[in-house]
Amino acid sequence: MNFVAYTFSDLGNELDIFTKSYTIEEFIVCPIEEIKNLKPKEERRCRFCGLDYSQTTFDNKPHIISELLGNKYLISDFECDKCNTFFGANYENDLANFLGMSRTFSGVKNKKDKIPIFNSPGYNLSARRTEFHGIKEGLIISLSKSAKGIFNIDSKEGRTEIKYPKQPYIPLKVYKALLKIALSILPEKYVLEYQYTFEYLKRSDNKYSEVAKIIHYELPYNHIVHNPVSFLFKKLKPESRIINHVFALYFQNHVFQFPIPFSKVDIDNNLYNGEPYSVPLCPPLLLSKPEFGAKYFRAIKDLSSNEKVREEEKITFSFDPNIMNDLKAYDSKTGEVTDKAFDPDEITEIYIAPYNSETLFYKS
Ligand SMILES: [Zn+2]
Repeated sequence: MNFVAYTFSDLGNELDIFTKSYTIEEFIVCPIEEIKNLKPKEERRCRFCGLDYSQTTFDNKPHIISELLGNKYLISDFECDKCNTFFGANYENDLANFLGMSRTFSGVKNKKDKIPIFNSPGYNLSARRTEFHGIKEGLIISLSKSAKGIFNIDSKEGRTEIKYPKQPYIPLKVYKALLKIALSILPEKYVLEYQYTFEYLKRSDNKYSEVAKIIHYELPYNHIVHNPVSFLFKKLKPESRIINHVFALYFQNHVFQFPIPFSKVDIDNNLYNGEPYSVPLCPPLLLSKPEFGAKYFRAIKDLSSNEKVREEEKITFSFDPNIMNDLKAYDSKTGEVTDKAFDPDEITEIYIAPYNSETLFYKS
């Protein structure tokens, strides 16, 4: 497959190494309208449990990439209702909690076609999309009366940090929610080769959980994808001691990437004999050249635990420190402007507006 993409300048070398070992086998962008050509129900077989139309039902519209990531129309003809209900009930909520405020922040609509409201545990902080003096797509972050230490505004340094807990989640379930997407992207011809992975997906214990690690990238906002995108990479040389398939999912400004474990090819290749093997990784593939000095964030995320974790999330931004000396208080209800001194500790709401937007403040 020919594909023109860019990456960050410091990752060029990694991309070279990766493309010498892997090729793109699948590249899927979520469609913006309903897809056709699904198999008639009578011909369907579920790849997750192996049952066919005579043994189970296929009445749901199962999403290949989770609906909560903003995929509306990419649905499959190989997931039965029972499996669909199982994945929805067991893994989806943990994935949503793991994503924290990002779905609200980026305006990703949920099943009911609404942008979800984010609430931190105990409702100390909530975030929702709302209009503000002519700006339509901004985010308002509000604190409860009892909330403390969430907004940290350093007016001398010109730095604001918003720090809050996410809803708790079970890391292994997040991994399985992502693995389920990878196994849905997998072309039909490989399903038998991955039978151990399909079995692993439904395990409720934490056996073999050491494989549950992913690479997480956060990209600058100008590289955001509005519809989820996924890649399946396949190794070029069958004999090389590397994982057979690597999966990457692009969601808004996030990239989640991991090797698909337990393929028959890898087992036959002795990859799991206890000796270390290398896992080449694909740097983020960007559709436009990143700006000079553009920054990204990268971390290995260990999702092997089967215990609930409570994690904090942070939003930081900087401003010109001088701006604080010249502030006036404006009462948005009465329109009155006073010289009341600005006290950062009194802030209970912060409105984050999209880049380059303009308020209609002064005009009204
Ligand atoms: Zn099934």
